[in-house]
Amino acid sequence: MVNGARVSFNSATDEMTERDGGLIRFLLRERHGSPFEHGYFRFLVKAPIFVVREHHRHRAGHSYNEWSGRYSKLEAEFYVPEYVRTQVGKPGAYSFEPVDAATREATRREIEANAQRCFEAYERLLEQGIAKEVARAVLPLSTYTKYYWSCNPRSLMHFCSLRNSDQAQYEIQQYAVAAESFLEKLMPVTHAAFVENGRIAP
Ligand SMILES: Cc1cc2nc3c(=O)[nH]c(=O)nc-3n(C[C@H](O)[C@H](O)[C@H](O)COP(=O)(O)OP(=O)(O)OC[C@H]3O[C@@H](n4cnc5c(N)ncnc54)[C@H](O)[C@@H]3O)c2cc1C
Repeated sequence: MVNGARVSFNSATDEMTERDGGLIRFLLRERHGSPFEHGYFRFLVKAPIFVVREHHRHRAGHSYNEWSGRYSKLEAEFYVPEYVRTQVGKPGAYSFEPVDAATREATRREIEANAQRCFEAYERLLEQGIAKEVARAVLPLSTYTKYYWSCNPRSLMHFCSLRNSDQAQYEIQQYAVAAESFLEKLMPVTHAAFVENGRIAP
């Protein structure tokens, strides 16, 4: 990142110094974002389809390649939430509260039984010779899929800013927390500057 910025002055460094840390903090604070595009993260993500729909809205600096339900049979693996909640308040300003234990269990059973029925219908359609791309229409949004996701530090920060946030749905938040932990581990100075900057991507 630092060399991407220093090329403006035709200079480069091989080791990270305290001065370089200062430069990173300056770039982030002043929103000089392009040096943060010289990095590369690639994740193999397994997620329910409803999470993927939210994730794939992130376009700039993100690449995705996903398992195809047209070419191969989808596995009967689906998400049953642990954190079952109710929503209170108005659209755009909801808050979420856990339900009582009995309601939680009944909800989980309902979600699980429904997904099982859907996968049974999927199998029946495949057995009748229906194309995979058609038969998958019976599957629920909770079905797991997997995909490669590549991004750069700048686009990763933007994703984390929006999705590792209380405003985002709980499930995608968990993915954003995990992705951010890699940013923190691999680019600690950049991550610290991002946090210091109010978690706004440059
Ligand atoms: C809490 C939350 C609730 C949401 N609710 C909804 C919803 O109800 N319905 C819905 O449809 N979506 C919803 N979204 C998705 C949201 O509108 C964005 O599509 C998503 O967060 C990706 O953000 P982005 O466009 O900034 O990211 P990216 O696509 O990665 O773009 C990054 C940045 O590049 C620039 N950019 C990218 N493309 C363009 C362009 N075409 N023109 C100009 N500038 C561009 C913008 O500055 C943008 O911020 C929600 C997102 C969140 C976090």
